[in-house]
Formats: sequence, C-alpha cells, structure tokens
Amino acid sequence: MLFKDVLVDESLKKRLISLVKENRISHAQLFLAPAGSHAFALAMAYAQYICCEHPGEDDSCGVCPSCAKFAKLSHPDVHIIFPNCTTTEVKKDPVFTKFSAKFCQFVLDHNYHIDINDWLMELGGENKQAFINTRDCSYIVNQNSIKSYEGGYKIYILWSADRLYRDAAPKLLKTLEEPENKTLFILITENTDKMLTTILSRTQLVKIPKLKSEVIRQQLSKDFNISEEDAADVAVLADGNYNRAIELINDNSEYKETLAQIQLLLSSMLALSQPVPNKAEVNYLEVRDCIDAIISRGREYQKNFLSAFIRILRSMLMKNSHQDAISKASSTESAIISQYAKAFNLKNVSQIFDECNKTLYHIERNGNSSLVFTDWYLKVAELIAPRP
Ligand SMILES: [Zn+2]
Repeated sequence: MLFKDVLVDESLKKRLISLVKENRISHAQLFLAPAGSHAFALAMAYAQYICCEHPGEDDSCGVCPSCAKFAKLSHPDVHIIFPNCTTTEVKKDPVFTKFSAKFCQFVLDHNYHIDINDWLMELGGENKQAFINTRDCSYIVNQNSIKSYEGGYKIYILWSADRLYRDAAPKLLKTLEEPENKTLFILITENTDKMLTTILSRTQLVKIPKLKSEVIRQQLSKDFNISEEDAADVAVLADGNYNRAIELINDNSEYKETLAQIQLLLSSMLALSQPVPNKAEVNYLEVRDCIDAIISRGREYQKNFLSAFIRILRSMLMKNSHQDAISKASSTESAIISQYAKAFNLKNVSQIFDECNKTLYHIERNGNSSLVFTDWYLKVAELIAPRP
C-alpha cells in the first residue's frame, strides 16, 4: 500500500513520514480511527515505507523486493494479527496464523477498507465472539525473540486491538514495554474504552480524523460507476465512513432493482385490468420471471419489496390529492408515481393495502412464496379496475 492511495489527511501522512526520516519511530503506536476510515491502509503504508529499500521523499518506491512483498501482504517481518475464533474449518485452538490467507484475501477484496463486522461475517456470522487470543499473544512474544528475516524492522499490526482478549493482554505488556531493537507495534482500534489502560499507557496515540465528504465523493467516483450526483449524495449520507458509503451504494442498486420490478408489475397489472384485457401488453413470461426474481431473493427482500410498493401507492394518493409530499422521492420513484397514479384511489388503495398486509403475514409465517406472490399479483390487478 502506497501513501498516495491511502484516504487520510495529507498532514498525517507527512507527520508519519518525517518520523521515519528523523529516526524517531515510537515502538508502540495506537491508531485511533473512526469507523470506516482507512486506518489499516495507513498502517500498511507506514510499515511499507519503513521497510522500503529506496524510499522517496513522500512515498515508498513501490518496486523494490520489500515493496513487492507488501503488495501481496506477505512480508516475512510484518505480522498482521486480527480477531479470530473457531469456525467450521478451524474447529479448535484458533490462532490468527490459521486464518492469515483468508484475512489477506479479505483485505485485498475490500481494497483495505476493512470493517470488523464484515470480517466476522467471513468467519461465519456476525454474532461470532472473535478475539485476539492467548495463542496470538504467545506467537507475538515468541516472534519477538527471533531476529528479523531481512535484517530490518519487525512490525506487528494488531487490527481491532479492542478485541484483545482481557486475559491475554497482560502477556503483551512486557513486550510492549521492552521490545527488541527495531520493533514496531501498531495497534488499530475504533474504540479505546474497551482496552486495558495498561496497554493504552504503553502506546503513543495517533488520532486519525474522520474522512471528509469531498474525499469520499472523489473516491466513490473512482471506485464505482455512478453519476456525480449520486456520488455527492452518498458521500454526505456516509458521514465520514467509507464502508457505509459502499453499503449505501449497494442498497441503492438493490432499491433500483425493486423499483424496476414495481414498474414492470404495475404496467402489466394495468393492462390486465382493462375491461377488455390487453393481452398483447401483458408479457406473462416477463411477469413470471419478475415474480421468480422477487421470490429467489428471500423473505427479507420480499418484505422490503412490499414495503416499497405500499410507500409508492401512498405517494400516488398524495399526488392525486395534490399534496406536495413526494418531493422526497427519487427521480425514478417520481416517474413511477406520475405514470400510474391515475389508476389508484382511496378505495382500491385501502383494499390493496389489506392484500399487501395479508401477503406480509403469510411471508412471515413461511407460506409458499410462489403461491403467495402470484395470488397477491392477481388480486392487486383485479383491484386496480374492478370489472363491472
Ligand atoms: Zn520500496
């Protein structure tokens, strides 16, 4: 990881670089970073600069053998330690080394924007109790007595250091206090409240500021194929948390899919509800595929779909009564509302709401989704324009 690719304040990068140049690297540093910052990337860029064979004025060279090892997260003198636990693959005696390959892949897949909840999901569920445990601490203590492989610094990066298991943490105190020469500990945390004061007092604090929304906007435009407006909206909503920004973009694409499904179903329902159903306009295959797609996404998605449908119908009623309450709708929502509002009135909407609620009831009680949704579709089509 090069400093130029790390999303943090330039002044902080300069400060870390000058510490290296002036040979004033404090041996134990605590990176305190708000959620969704690029703290792990910063720690790696810092470590890479320290180990680089031809460091430049403001970044590592990126091409020396040491930098090449960093690119693969495989430098033998850099130990990345992270919370772990028993899993389906590691049934007993978990230790971070058993998960190193998985963790490196996780880091690269997320472009160093790593989040503890995502890592817990990788381990097999967000309710997992994962820690930096006693075995991990023993590994550090043992390593510390061995010389570095390449004659330079030995660096330990403890990610999510607040998950240092309480009974294990004291093992590290002596090592933190009297490390071997040329040893650097970087502890990364979002929250110092859960850390032992004895650990805190042995580290130098490096505060990483929250990301500015402008920085997030620029990065989103680089990382995703989205419009300038969407990038700017998401950057503001993310409130300094890049991981949250990514989530928002993913949610947004799911929501866009939901809106496309609503549009397709409404258009076919309207054609079906004509006094003489316009069969040419109802593409039954398309309707079936759409319903299949909704069902295949699982119950949570089905519930979200119905909630979105109800919300749009409510906005249609408001539009019909000339209430200016749809200003919060996105441009796609507004287009759907304007296109179909005329088909809905207080009477049929209240009946359609009843149908949606019945459908929700059946979904929650594990009814057969295919039957439940097909039934819902036909009933709503019927209610849009009751036959004489
Ligand atoms: Zn280099």
